Amino acid sequence: MKVKVAVNGYGTIGKRVADAIASQPDMALVGVAKTRPSFEARVATERGYPLYVGGKGTKAEFVAAGLPVAGMVDEMIAASDVVVDCSPEKVGRENAKTYASGGVRAVFQGGEKADVAEVSFNSLANFERARDRRTVRVVSCNSTALARAASVIAPHWGVERWEATIVRRAADPGETGRGPINGIMPNFDLPSHHGPDVQTIFPSLSIATTAVVVPTTLMHVHVNHVRLSRPPPDAARVFDRFRITPRFHIFAPWEHVDGTPQVMEFARDRPTRPIGRPDMMENVLWEAGVRVDGADLYFFQAIHQESIVVPENIDAIRAMFGLAEDGPTSVAMTDKALGIPHP
Ligand code: NAD
Repeated sequence: MKVKVAVNGYGTIGKRVADAIASQPDMALVGVAKTRPSFEARVATERGYPLYVGGKGTKAEFVAAGLPVAGMVDEMIAASDVVVDCSPEKVGRENAKTYASGGVRAVFQGGEKADVAEVSFNSLANFERARDRRTVRVVSCNSTALARAASVIAPHWGVERWEATIVRRAADPGETGRGPINGIMPNFDLPSHHGPDVQTIFPSLSIATTAVVVPTTLMHVHVNHVRLSRPPPDAARVFDRFRITPRFHIFAPWEHVDGTPQVMEFARDRPTRPIGRPDMMENVLWEAGVRVDGADLYFFQAIHQESIVVPENIDAIRAMFGLAEDGPTSVAMTDKALGIPHP
């Protein structure tokens, strides 16, 4: 029996999560809900996804656009075992009431505060905590990336103190209304909210983050400085460890990947993924961008904000429904279906 999954909110994250669910052997996509007709709604129907009307949308608008409508969002929820809420931040909290009254389980995204769900989730860090839960929140793109990295660093070398500056993309590629288009904007929340968000997964991790927004749409870049309690002798131990961990991609110096433009060009060039998007769902590191200096580890990582949380959403569902015996099994299943190279 496949778990029946609905996706409520079909934007940057929702359309990718829908594709990912449709490609899993143990999940069936009930449908996707959109609030208004758009090219994305059209593509959803062309992909064969039942299209439901969400939010304050009306069936008449979709019918006028010539788009086939399967029903209203309540009908989609009633036909599902779990809803992945991919609506804009803060809207998920409103939708949570509908899921609870409909008796359906729910996965929320990082735009919601942690208390929207029973547990905040990352596949490598705390798969077991989501087991059999009714509500789970997949943390944001930046927190997912930091949690993945902490899952490798903390158990092997111990973390005394982690400081990270998050160089944030100003907008997703389709978001023409956001900026800046010329400027570097410091985030005056010092430290930024990302550290406490990572602590929803690693409560005792000593981490502080700061953030600046820069005019790019491709990726975020994290500048990490970690004081280790049991440092390795050299950086090679660190990037070798990342290399054998799922959901990390390490570039060697000879590949001439100088920054995020080449990373995303690589994502476009590498053999087509089963879900057919030029995404980079792994944390991206550079061999040349890892240094160990005594107890201090320095490393950069680049994060494709549009896609990094997608595999985590799939693993969250597997944990909630007991579809995999443990986290590594789920991660391997997800990565195989999504075409993420698995070490
Ligand atoms: P988005 O704006 O691209 O997509 C949201 C979609 O939800 C839109 O299609 C919108 O029309 C629709 N919607 C609006 N009201 C709705 C309602 N009441 N019910 C259902 N759908 C509704 O947003 P996004 O970037 O996909 O973000 C979704 C969530 O994922 C947010 O919590 C966000 O913080 C989180 N997230 C975003 C990114 C990113 O970089 N874009 C990365 C990680 C997590």
